[in-house]
Amino acid sequence: MTRVLVVEDDRQLVRALKINLQARRFEVEEASDGGSALRIAAARRPDVILLDLGLPDMDGVEVIRAVRGWSRTPILVLSARHTSEEKIRALDAGADDYVTKPFSMDELLARLRAATRRQEAPTGSAAAPEVTLITTDEFSVDLVARKVRRGERAVRLTPTEWHLLEILLTHPGRLITQRRLLLEVWGPTYAEHTNYLRVYMAQLRRKLEADPSHPRYLITEPGMGYRFEP
Ligand code: CA
Repeated sequence: MTRVLVVEDDRQLVRALKINLQARRFEVEEASDGGSALRIAAARRPDVILLDLGLPDMDGVEVIRAVRGWSRTPILVLSARHTSEEKIRALDAGADDYVTKPFSMDELLARLRAATRRQEAPTGSAAAPEVTLITTDEFSVDLVARKVRRGERAVRLTPTEWHLLEILLTHPGRLITQRRLLLEVWGPTYAEHTNYLRVYMAQLRRKLEADPSHPRYLITEPGMGYRFEP
């Protein structure tokens, strides 16, 4: 059973979340402020945290930073009327994803499932990635051999295109901020050069998407970043 810690001060929303999550066999813990969220997270070690950014006692981003000091538990941000800047701050602080209120329960559950799946199959430099071959209806990517194919045809990528694609593919379903992509691929001097991303993402889509102007896999989150939707 997946244990979810719901950190939210809106009692009505907590009630609705609880009913829906318990109906889908999640075990639910609640915290109505940041202080108790940190205490409960440390004591109960939930599998995933649903976190409202607007809490009565502290900024939700501070909760993310504190949790990330000792835990990689997936954090899904619930954000209401927050600017994309605040969502980006949350993602850069270590949140895994966000849903914007009002959200549908289906959307929330899909994001929850994606976040917990990633946790079960961790990737990163320390551990060898569990998934080395990514196959979609349109293309397949061998992350170890560094080969991309569309049907019978090999697709050639430049080193920069490959680097971008690799980051997105190894975080399926997850929104990666523009800043993070720029820092990882081009370095700190280029952290604001979002036009680079637009150019290179357009190139990747031309090479990998059936309809590059309506991408199915390499999705833009306007003003925020990009996401590989498997
Ligand atoms: Ca709130």
